[in-house]
Amino acid sequence: AIPKAPPARGGTLGSPALLLLLRDLTRQHQVERMRADFVANASHELRTPLASVLGFIETLQGAARDDAKARAQFLELMRAQAERMSRLIDDLLSLSRIELNVHLRPTDTVDLGKAVRHVVEFLEPLARERGATLELSLSDGEVFVKGDRDELVQVFQNLIENAIKYAGSGGRIEIFAETSGTARGESTVSLSVRDHGPGIPAEHIPRLTERFYRVNVQDSRSKGGTGLGLAIVKHILNRHRGKLVVKSEVGVGSVFTARLPLAAPDSVAQPEHKAPN
Ligand code: ADP
Repeated sequence: AIPKAPPARGGTLGSPALLLLLRDLTRQHQVERMRADFVANASHELRTPLASVLGFIETLQGAARDDAKARAQFLELMRAQAERMSRLIDDLLSLSRIELNVHLRPTDTVDLGKAVRHVVEFLEPLARERGATLELSLSDGEVFVKGDRDELVQVFQNLIENAIKYAGSGGRIEIFAETSGTARGESTVSLSVRDHGPGIPAEHIPRLTERFYRVNVQDSRSKGGTGLGLAIVKHILNRHRGKLVVKSEVGVGSVFTARLPLAAPDSVAQPEHKAPN
């Protein structure tokens, strides 16, 4: 029989202080590991288009030097690769800016309907180009959240852009908002983007907000994806005490919902109702 270990006391391995220290060290190790993985992934993502640009330059300086048609074609391909690097750098900078601000609570009062309408108008041409239609249905009442307007616009833009990119042509994309109360007595607003595209297999769903995670890397790249869109969405929603909920069924479609706490009514300035001083 295995002898039983004596009960833990202060100063032994079971000491709460020591356990906390060990937990901190493990957490620190995990954070360092994640940081190293992130730098390795980001470098790889940048190096791939850079390598193809260098390859095209070499061909243009050598075999294709006097071939005007090949030159035009290669320049176009180089432009696409440079644009991909530029998108990636924009997303990396967004992510780092949001991470820096993560402990600051946003204080602006944002009219959610107005922000969503702005994004839908902006993305209408892209949707038309890809054969998708954007159907926005918002209730008449105004809904306000405490937030950073630009960041919330980025959340809605990333979700609607993904629906356009991945839902395939001819698809209807429904964008709608619902408000509800929570068990803690706090009211929330859920802004959902529903598509009728290919859907996402269940095993991928918990990992979608990881940086550089894609269900299909080639498909994402060919559609201009960086693999950072949903990581950015998650970080912004965290900062707003909100969260992202993903529901998807293969062959049916996906619903991405951004849930946010509503601004307390007394924090919403309504100049037209203010009594004169
Ligand atoms: P990307 O830049 O690749 O679009 P995201 O972080 O925005 O990166 O999304 C991660 C992955 O989630 C995408 O590569 C895609 O595989 C999947 N995805 C996101 N939105 C949808 C959607 N509406 N339908 C199907 N797949 C989606």
